[in-house]
Amino acid sequence: MVSTNPTDSQPARRRRPPPRVVDVLEVERITPRMVRITLGGEQMKEFQSKGPAEHFRIYLPDAETGDLPLPVDGPDGLTFPEDQPRPMSRAYTPRRWDADAGELVVDIALHEHGPGAAWASTIKAGDSAVISGQAGGTYFPEAEVDWYLIGGDEAALPAIGTVLEAMPKNVRALVFAEVHDAQEHQELTSPATFEVTWLHREGGSTPGRRLANAMKAAPLPEGNGRIWVSCEADVMREIRRYYLEERGVDRSMLRTQGYWKMGDINHPDHDMGDDV
Ligand SMILES: Cc1cc2nc3c(=O)[nH]c(=O)nc-3n(C[C@H](O)[C@H](O)[C@H](O)COP(=O)(O)OP(=O)(O)OC[C@H]3O[C@@H](n4cnc5c(N)ncnc54)[C@H](O)[C@@H]3O)c2cc1C
Repeated sequence: MVSTNPTDSQPARRRRPPPRVVDVLEVERITPRMVRITLGGEQMKEFQSKGPAEHFRIYLPDAETGDLPLPVDGPDGLTFPEDQPRPMSRAYTPRRWDADAGELVVDIALHEHGPGAAWASTIKAGDSAVISGQAGGTYFPEAEVDWYLIGGDEAALPAIGTVLEAMPKNVRALVFAEVHDAQEHQELTSPATFEVTWLHREGGSTPGRRLANAMKAAPLPEGNGRIWVSCEADVMREIRRYYLEERGVDRSMLRTQGYWKMGDINHPDHDMGDDV
């Protein structure tokens, strides 16, 4: 029977999980340009992080008033008022999720240009924060391959850390990490055998230039592999194009993502470079 109910033909609107108002438990400068923030509290408890390289959103204070955008009670739980513009937010990676303690750790690069980095540079233990209801977009490394080539900048270091920690033991990983200088190196761990080539931007090279040059110069290891790259969006495209066009790499081997774009405010989360 054909339905006459006009609402039957409308796709059901996907409801976002309600945002959470959480406590800032700890703030630590793990390097001069990276802040580690631990979030917890009652509303953190039901959060789930399902795997490596996920992201969630942090809602930022109003640029003029400095007030936190607090969600209000709605019929389905907390929500932002529908009649007002959605508050400004930025994407970050759950670096660590302790489900038992209900604590989420996030590492934020202090790049000195945007409200996300400004928020991270002033936040302190005892403050409140507002975050998206859940994280999403996992990337699980595969066990059936011989090697991984991994590339990224400071914004991708948290995701690189989670991908390495989830790497199967039998896999060999070669990591290229571009950071400002040697003080930004982090200790990374993995069950897999891995090597990190740290690339330094000091001296004023454009973000991503050293990463692109190093990845393009690196020989692909023997055997079957995968390539994971997250960094500035144009640099990601340059690296992606190079592997596809110059090295004849199959698209299925590549997972690339533009985590931010030079000169762009709040670059979209899901820029995978599919146009290349
Ligand atoms: C899936 C995903 C996961 C991410 N995880 C993390 C994470 O764990 N930690 C983290 O620090 N970042 C992470 N990012 C990147 C972060 O979302 C962006 O850097 C974001 O733009 C920061 O917001 P902002 O307000 O500081 O800058 P915006 O307001 O977005 O941009 C303002 C200006 O700052 C410049 N800019 C933005 N980001 C950077 C940067 N990283 N370095 C140099 N210049 C920049 C832009 O060119 C722009 O001109 C992630 C992004 C994605 C898509």
